Amino acid sequence: MELQKKLEILADAAKYDASCASSGATRKNSSNGKGVGSTGGAGICHSYAPDGRCISLLKVLLTNRCLYDCHYCINRRSSNVQRAAFTPAEVVKLTLDFYKRNYIEGLFLSSGIIRNADHTMEMVIEVARALREDHDFRGYIHLKTIPEASVALIEKAGQLADRISINIELPDEESLKILAPEKSLKRTRIAMGKIRHRVENASEIRRERKGKRSPEARFATGQSTQVIVGADKSTDQTFLNRSHDLYSNYRLRRVYYSAFSPIPEPSAILPLQAPPLIREHRLYQADWLMRFYGFAAHEIVSDQLPNLDLDLDPKLSWALRNRHLFPVDLNRAEKLMLYRVPGLGIRNADRILGIRRYGAIRIQDLIRLKVSLKKVLPFIITKDHHPNTRELDHDNLRARFAPPAKQLELNLS
Ligand code: SF4
Repeated sequence: MELQKKLEILADAAKYDASCASSGATRKNSSNGKGVGSTGGAGICHSYAPDGRCISLLKVLLTNRCLYDCHYCINRRSSNVQRAAFTPAEVVKLTLDFYKRNYIEGLFLSSGIIRNADHTMEMVIEVARALREDHDFRGYIHLKTIPEASVALIEKAGQLADRISINIELPDEESLKILAPEKSLKRTRIAMGKIRHRVENASEIRRERKGKRSPEARFATGQSTQVIVGADKSTDQTFLNRSHDLYSNYRLRRVYYSAFSPIPEPSAILPLQAPPLIREHRLYQADWLMRFYGFAAHEIVSDQLPNLDLDLDPKLSWALRNRHLFPVDLNRAEKLMLYRVPGLGIRNADRILGIRRYGAIRIQDLIRLKVSLKKVLPFIITKDHHPNTRELDHDNLRARFAPPAKQLELNLS
């Protein structure tokens, strides 16, 4: 099969994996005339870096042949898709060719499981090894690892890559048993634990040696994972509790939420429809609240409310359920309470803390900070704004923020 055809098949097969952010990579560069390529400090595959640049990675599978039969996956062994496989040398060539033409800044490489986990990992590693060692490639490399692979191979992958990741795919063992019977959450957690240990160990060595090169210091700067939303019955509570577990126990850099998209010739046990995309968006917002705003998962979702409100962002939804904590006096509140005010992001909350050292906060300050007054005013007190607390208790407050209800169309055809 021609290389071009393989690329079409294997790039298409990789598009379902969302966990390819490149932020946090160690900077490497070739501006001194040595080596090929460089990584920026931030950038997201198929997304935008904080400076607005779109970072692009060659995102392919080594092969879409697979021994496993994960129901949600187009590459599962029972799927009737056209199969292809690159040799490691072909991926190396494509990466270098694309890099030199300025199409990409790095490589995201995953693979179906061929023969066994170790054999697959060896092939994936060979690509990264040849790029780094034979071609002195200094671009970004993200390798997808397989939890069942031996520790020595995961170690080797980590030494060559900027980021490694293992997809947990589903948030609990029950769902995995049904939809991905060959996978095990327990095995994934063990592998993630080892990677966490090695990431921390390497970063400590780098600190101690003040950035001087050493083999023990060479390891990926972090790990990430992906979960599929809407392929099983898991609630948002289950997803967010799992994410909390992964962030706190395994120090993951990111959990990616990927809305399940129906695949051609789907397994009969999959839902026929994709979940609303807004669910994925709300999960990202809730995840953000846990990572940066000091929220615990149980504050955002609970046994009584296991799913996020699709009409409101999770912070506003939390505030409406906790109206007794508002209005918040912007001139007195502590930082963490400012973070919880709907309409105030971290940056503006920090700016308010800075401004109030020199004088009382007024509405005019919020206008200068481009804060959405519509959203924030019912929840705050400033020197010149004291909301009527009855407004906060009013049943209509939610309706002011939620999108207007739409009448469903009656389809008579
Ligand atoms: S292991 Fe599962 S998710 Fe990964 S390629 Fe194979 S069938 Fe797809």
